[in-house]
Amino acid sequence: MKIGFIGLGNMGAPMAQRLAEAGHEITGYDLMESAIAALPKDMITLASDAPDAARGKDIVITMLPNGESLDSVAAAIIPVMRQGSCLIDCSTVDVNTARTVAIQCKGANIRWLDAPVSGGVVGAVGGTLTFMVGGSPASFAIGGQLFEIMGQRTIHCGEAGAGQAAKICNNMILGVCMIATCEAFALADALALDRQKLFDVVSTSSGNSWSMSTYCPAPGVGPQSPSDNHYAPGFSAALMLKDLRLSQQAADLNGTPTRAGKLALDIYRDFVDSRDGAKFDFSAILNELTTGQTNRGQQKP
Ligand code: NAD
Repeated sequence: MKIGFIGLGNMGAPMAQRLAEAGHEITGYDLMESAIAALPKDMITLASDAPDAARGKDIVITMLPNGESLDSVAAAIIPVMRQGSCLIDCSTVDVNTARTVAIQCKGANIRWLDAPVSGGVVGAVGGTLTFMVGGSPASFAIGGQLFEIMGQRTIHCGEAGAGQAAKICNNMILGVCMIATCEAFALADALALDRQKLFDVVSTSSGNSWSMSTYCPAPGVGPQSPSDNHYAPGFSAALMLKDLRLSQQAADLNGTPTRAGKLALDIYRDFVDSRDGAKFDFSAILNELTTGQTNRGQQKP
């Protein structure tokens, strides 16, 4: 297929490359020179602007930082996209923007899928992403084959916006869960309970979660994770903050009481804004929660 790919950053570039390797004809565009410079030019044709990347394509994929950038790119490309073609947005954006752009697409006779991902840069490079997809079954039937190339698992969550809704619900759980896991390590320290023992118990008990068993925030405990690499991301605290903002915004708009989600947002906002947390993995919140603790059972990480 002829595919336009707009937004070739940390995630978009390897995703576009996988599609090119699978034999699709990729035309790419990014605002930043540095993103373009890093692309394999023999595999990806460069466009001069976003409409140039989108014009006449079967599918256009966007992988952008936020809802505002999706909004402006959509306004520029929808008028030039071929009728019957499909716009697939893989960025993480607010549900309302996804639904608004879906309506604009419908008005222009263009198919739409919101298809945010989990799995991070490692998943994008390795083709092991999970796609959470919103849009009509007919549009899903078109995009599905591409998700198989870029990812390992795809879930069709419902109509337009459902993919973004699933993404922010998942990441609200993740943020709350990571904080709870780190608080448990802080309490274990204070009670002189060995961190490895806490891991051994919790990872096989009812307190277990992905944050504990797969992505353990305590260095030297559990499988390899960013905590074993000085908390280099991984999934940055800045991206977690972004997603918690989106979940809280959706909760506030819909009058849903998400008190733990709100508290997680406050904790990550403080970490990123006041404590230079943006450049660290989101599991580095462990250090914040154990700072100042006096009655520690063992050394700080
Ligand atoms: P990134 O900042 O590395 O890439 C975004 C790219 O979009 C940049 O290169 C930027 O120049 C480009 N861009 C911005 N506005 C543009 C415009 N108007 N036209 C063309 N290009 C434009 O971000 P990323 O890490 O690749 O993340 C992309 C999306 O994926 C985000 O929505 C993020 O929340 C989501 N996501 C990221 C991860 C992760 O681990 N990085 C994981 C899951 C989801």
